[in-house]
Amino acid sequence: MEPRIGVYICHCGSNIAGTVNVEAVAKFAQGLEGVVVARDYKFMCSDPGQNMIKDDIKEKELNRVVVASCSPTMHEPTFRRVCQEAGVNPYLFAMANIREHCSWVTEDHDEATEKAKALVSAAVSRVFYHQPLETREVSVNPNTLIVGAGIAGIQAALKIANSGHKVYLVEREPSIGGHMAQLDKTFPTLDCSACILTPRMTEVGHHPNIELMTYSDVEEVSGFIGNFKVKIRKKARFVDEDKCTGCGVCQEKCPFKVDSEFDVGVGQRKAIYIPFAQAVPNVPVIDREHCAYFLKGTCRACEKFCEAKAIDFEQKDEIVEVDVGNIIIATGYGLFEPRGIYQYGYGELDNVVTSLEFERMVNASGPTSGDILLKDGTHPKSVAIIHCVGSRDKDYHEYCSRVCCMYSMKFGHLLREHVPGVKVYEFYVDLRAFGKGFEEFYNRVMEEGTIFIEARPSGVKEEGGKLVVEYEEGGEEKKQAADLVILSTALEAQADAGEVGRLFGIGRSADGFFLEKHPKLDPVATMSDGIFVAGCCQGPKDIPDTVAQAGAAAAEVLSMISRGTVEIEAATAVIDERICSGCQICKLLCPYSAITFDEEKEVCRVNEALCKGCGACVGGCPGDAISLNHFTNEQIVAQMEGMLV
Ligand SMILES: Cc1cc2nc3c(=O)[nH]c(=O)nc-3n(C[C@H](O)[C@H](O)[C@H](O)COP(=O)(O)OP(=O)(O)OC[C@H]3O[C@@H](n4cnc5c(N)ncnc54)[C@H](O)[C@@H]3O)c2cc1C
Repeated sequence: MEPRIGVYICHCGSNIAGTVNVEAVAKFAQGLEGVVVARDYKFMCSDPGQNMIKDDIKEKELNRVVVASCSPTMHEPTFRRVCQEAGVNPYLFAMANIREHCSWVTEDHDEATEKAKALVSAAVSRVFYHQPLETREVSVNPNTLIVGAGIAGIQAALKIANSGHKVYLVEREPSIGGHMAQLDKTFPTLDCSACILTPRMTEVGHHPNIELMTYSDVEEVSGFIGNFKVKIRKKARFVDEDKCTGCGVCQEKCPFKVDSEFDVGVGQRKAIYIPFAQAVPNVPVIDREHCAYFLKGTCRACEKFCEAKAIDFEQKDEIVEVDVGNIIIATGYGLFEPRGIYQYGYGELDNVVTSLEFERMVNASGPTSGDILLKDGTHPKSVAIIHCVGSRDKDYHEYCSRVCCMYSMKFGHLLREHVPGVKVYEFYVDLRAFGKGFEEFYNRVMEEGTIFIEARPSGVKEEGGKLVVEYEEGGEEKKQAADLVILSTALEAQADAGEVGRLFGIGRSADGFFLEKHPKLDPVATMSDGIFVAGCCQGPKDIPDTVAQAGAAAAEVLSMISRGTVEIEAATAVIDERICSGCQICKLLCPYSAITFDEEKEVCRVNEALCKGCGACVGGCPGDAISLNHFTNEQIVAQMEGMLV
């Protein structure tokens, strides 16, 4: 059928029209081959703009459409829908980005107008060769996998489970709770972290729709949106969960102590242990690295004293396979290792601690029962808190960790509560108290007597048995003595975020955290359809923001479940099996694990539901056996030639 093309140039208010002469571009487009009508309009994405296209399609019998406006990531779906509603296949549409690629990158009106003409001409040449394509619908499995059971994973799991849908909640540690379980009180309201968290943990543990898998790792993910297959390794606890009563006798009787991960070294645990009193599940785990039976074949004290006969040294890891339609990643954050900033003396000097270590010290149910003690067993009379350790520092992490100012101020308050009369000095770069009730909390802490010093200390030294913080203020070198120094360390991406990203096919931003699909308009989706992110794995944030994001991820999943089916993009790669040599280079290159190898026929195949149409396989195929629907050589060459107006 002979192409009859309509071209529509958007002003985007003054975003485009402020730089590009849109009338001139429309006039130019009118003269291009195949163009039946060309118009400009204030906002093509508005209802009148959309109706203008629909009316033209009908009245002028258009069979192809070009819109020159913003980025296709914003409005390509809008205009494809407009075409479809007016009876034109949505793939017979092309978009020219004359905003981000043109008006926003130059102030020169003439140059911008010429470039806009070139981009429109390219889109018109390309749309000539577009083929109608059909999208497919696949059904959505209503089960959901959530990886990570900190407050983000817990919140998302409860939202989905309370709506009547099954959740598999996988946590790699022996208990759920994440970092929030380690905190004492939470800013700015100072409510006890455990008091607000543990009821939710218990609810998760007993929820009929939540299958909790703690001490477990996801090993393999295959499939696509609506239909993922996941292999999970349930590591052996060497304790039978069904028999264990959680009485704790095994822990008491175990003679071997090691540093507790939960207490970040401030306290110790046994070789058989429950990480903390309110752990869910309340079932211990034997740490085979430190258990005398596993190391030397001796002891078995835990087994001897276990009345429930729950100890099982023969227990093996178990592989569980589950089918789910959607996945939420909620793997949280790691903490910056301050040994790298050697001048602060962490690991070298006594009484220099990290913020999380301080949380455990100040916690009433922590190893010191909330008694803040120096190494010599006395209480500190003065404490220095150094903000931004590893954050807002181009040598480490350029970003702001968003919670350190507030938790440091919280420490100022808690110190006074626990050690009356203590002097607290906060060394800050900038104070960021942006949230609800934060500024008020800052004023409160200041009124209580905490002294704020605007400086990034150059070092911490020991002088005459006392710690001394060195800093510069008003061009003058100064020193502040302190008995205890707390380093407010940065929140950073988990050490294994790269591996987790590869496993689930999701990207990371330059700061190492998982990358959302769109920071403003799609902040919990990822580039892998059906996989969402929630909480600090996406970037540092406080508990209220984490909970809000977890709710948003749950809402995305629930909307997918209630739709029941999902549309699969038609612009996917196609392998010509007659040409494919079976070299599998494409399989290695595919970032979405969308290519499989057929052993029998010795050729590669594309799973269309997984393929995102990125084209990596097309470029990498040495035999030219792969083409990409909607990005054929013919279309791309025409687009390039069209630029040469
Ligand atoms: C010292 C300190 C004090 C703070 N104080 C406050 C405060 O007072 N108020 C406030 O609002 N915020 C505070 N925060 C921030 C708060 O800790 C976070 O907002 C919150 O914990 C984020 O929850 P999350 O679930 O995203 O991550 P996490 O709490 O990190 O939970 C992630 C969970 O995922 C698990 N996991 C990780 N990787 C995997 C994997 N591959 N497979 C399975 N499971 C995995 C982890 O074991 C963990 O259980 C503080 C932070 C710090 C460091």
